[in-house]
Amino acid sequence: MAEITFDHIYKRFHEDITAVSDFHMAIADEEFVVLVGPSGCGKSTMLRMVAGLEKITEGSLFIDKKYVNNVVPKDRDTAMVFQNYALYPHMNVFDHMAFGLKLQNFSKREIKARVYNASRTLGLEDYLERKPNALSGGQQQRVALGRAMVSNPRVFLMDEPLSNLDAQLRVQMRTEITKLHQQLKTTTIYVTHDQTEAMTMASRIVVMKDGCIQQIGTPREVYLYPENTFVAGFIGSPSMTFLEGKIQDRHFCCADQISFKLPEERIDDLKKYEGQAIILGIRPEDLHYDLDAWPDSKAAVTIDVAELTGSEAILYTTIGNQEITATVNPRSNITQGDKIELGFDMSKAHFFHPKSGKRIP
Ligand code: ATP
Repeated sequence: MAEITFDHIYKRFHEDITAVSDFHMAIADEEFVVLVGPSGCGKSTMLRMVAGLEKITEGSLFIDKKYVNNVVPKDRDTAMVFQNYALYPHMNVFDHMAFGLKLQNFSKREIKARVYNASRTLGLEDYLERKPNALSGGQQQRVALGRAMVSNPRVFLMDEPLSNLDAQLRVQMRTEITKLHQQLKTTTIYVTHDQTEAMTMASRIVVMKDGCIQQIGTPREVYLYPENTFVAGFIGSPSMTFLEGKIQDRHFCCADQISFKLPEERIDDLKKYEGQAIILGIRPEDLHYDLDAWPDSKAAVTIDVAELTGSEAILYTTIGNQEITATVNPRSNITQGDKIELGFDMSKAHFFHPKSGKRIP
């Protein structure tokens, strides 16, 4: 197991493409860190630099305090699990898992012991003779995990390992990988563009955009205290609603004659923005149709779309020309075209600078 330190790392392709910019953080032993962000933000490049598959342009990488920028992949003691599993059609499950160990000249006995051990952990004991085309997607994914596990690496590197699976299997494998980590405790860096995977699996999340870290924190921290509008909008599903408005006389005012009373505990922070433009962010679950609780912060709206997911109803509407999303109890029976009042729980509201997008504490 290992700790990993990234010291101001940059990756440039050719002269003009900066894929990763000033990546700086330390990952502790046994952590499960998820790099999350939209396509092209530099997540896979980051992972490949840790594996040694991509050269670091600038900055230093340390694994267990050892400088590894120039260490070749096979000597880094990391194991990578890829999105497409990279299984060979002619090889059975046992041989897939044994392959790397044979190359490293392990004894037959040791190879057998390690493969059986990993296959028991992954529930693959009965499939060792099968070839990939006789395995389900989930089983193939387990083989890819097993192949990484048998070498007892210090670090697991996982690049979107669940993205080829259907929705139900994804959820199942997500839990399996989490359990596996609880059991093996191997330091893991996991790359995904799926914020739900990040929220559910990570001990810490690194949110990235355009090659730059936007925020590092526990799932709870990034959800409850997003540092900017990008993180606030990216983490959470459905996404946070943003309203542009201004602070006036202890209220947030937007559109025509809509004003929400600021909670007492926020007034000190916000009074210096009096009269200025500001962005209010509110999560869908902090909007309510039970109005008695929100007499000073409600807005009349017409529902454009109502989606029933089962456990909740998602309501889409607008204030002025600004879009709003609310999640409410499905038993509310609110449907498209209904005119309702929505209560804003202002104690849960977030505020951001309109230009920089940065959080106002
Ligand atoms: P995705 O989720 O789509 O895989 P990502 O966040 O993993 O995206 P990267 O694959 O790391 O993003 O790519 C980051 C940036 O670097 C992108 O702009 C990409 O086009 C660029 N890039 C990646 N590899 C190369 C390469 N070999 N040559 C030139 N540019 C590259």
